Amino acid sequence: MSVEVKRDIRKLKQEDLEKFFVQQGDKPFRAKQVFEWLWKKSAHDFDQMTNLSLPVRELLKTHFTINPIRVDRMQRSNDGTIKNAVTLHDSLVVESVLIPAEKRITACVSSQVGCSLACKFCATASLKRMRNLSVDEIYDQVVAIREQSEEFFNRPLTNIVFMGMGEPLLNYSNVVAAIDKITSPKGLGMAMKRITVSTAGIAKMIIKMADDGVKFNLAVSLHSAVDAKRSSIMPINETNSLDELAEALKYWYRKTKSKVTYEYVVWKGFNDKETDIQALLKFCKHIPCKVNLIEYNPIGVSDFKQAESTVIDRYMSVLEENGITTRVRRSRGKDIDAACGQLANKFES
Ligand code: SAH
Repeated sequence: MSVEVKRDIRKLKQEDLEKFFVQQGDKPFRAKQVFEWLWKKSAHDFDQMTNLSLPVRELLKTHFTINPIRVDRMQRSNDGTIKNAVTLHDSLVVESVLIPAEKRITACVSSQVGCSLACKFCATASLKRMRNLSVDEIYDQVVAIREQSEEFFNRPLTNIVFMGMGEPLLNYSNVVAAIDKITSPKGLGMAMKRITVSTAGIAKMIIKMADDGVKFNLAVSLHSAVDAKRSSIMPINETNSLDELAEALKYWYRKTKSKVTYEYVVWKGFNDKETDIQALLKFCKHIPCKVNLIEYNPIGVSDFKQAESTVIDRYMSVLEENGITTRVRRSRGKDIDAACGQLANKFES
């Protein structure tokens, strides 16, 4: 007896499903109905599709599966931040985070299982990159956090940042396709301008994004504007130097007219000198930008230390005096290892 392997229905294009229905002697518009259930109403079960007749639902069940993510564990921080351990259909685990603030609720989502970039200060680097997340796995993280936002805060999810595990530009096509499902009126209908993709700086992908005319925001994890220093903590800089990054960013700005945000941690004894500040200032002059000075979140394995607050103040005043909007971003969810760079599938049991 041969057993047909059921296909994951969310891997299909709407045209594929239309063909399927026609082959089954049904109308192509069924596919539209099913897609609305899958991507707009986020159905995880064919029986939720109540405007389809029972025989149609049975037909779908025989041929297809839906492979939703499972939020297996949820941890809440003293500051309200929620960290989710998300199990994928093949039992791999990633993390996603809900960050509540006064005016916004942000979902921080993962784009890969593990990461290949080996940034010295980031806990995710300790996890080998296993695979890219699929469109539906990225989408499902947003849906889960959207539900938590309503359930625990009675407020809608407002923002999404691709700052969880992985390098989103190394999973570019799935990230872009997921953002399409998240923003499309046929999907979740969220605003493109509330979405930020953060990259360690893959120059050729920044150029591709500019060519594709993407409308979401771009953030670059800079941390140093001195090549040798940046390479010493971010190996990606060896093949994507600051000059190449600057060229790609100029191209990005020419094409999109969209400001970039630089993320920057100031570490004691590493980038806390006046020359570091001046190097950053110079880099900031390439294109209109904003700077987020991020608080360092210790990851326990390295000897990085947050710089003195006087140094952060100095960074602030030099950048602001030169007309560059600069914010100090306090870390959130640190007590449960949910802050930037702390995602490493570590859960308290
Ligand atoms: N790969 C992408 C997105 C994931 S990291 C990127 O590099 O941008 C999300 C942000 O957290 C990045 O700005 C990263 O530099 C920062 N980060 C990583 N480890 C950190 C740590 N220990 N403390 C503070 N920020 C950290």
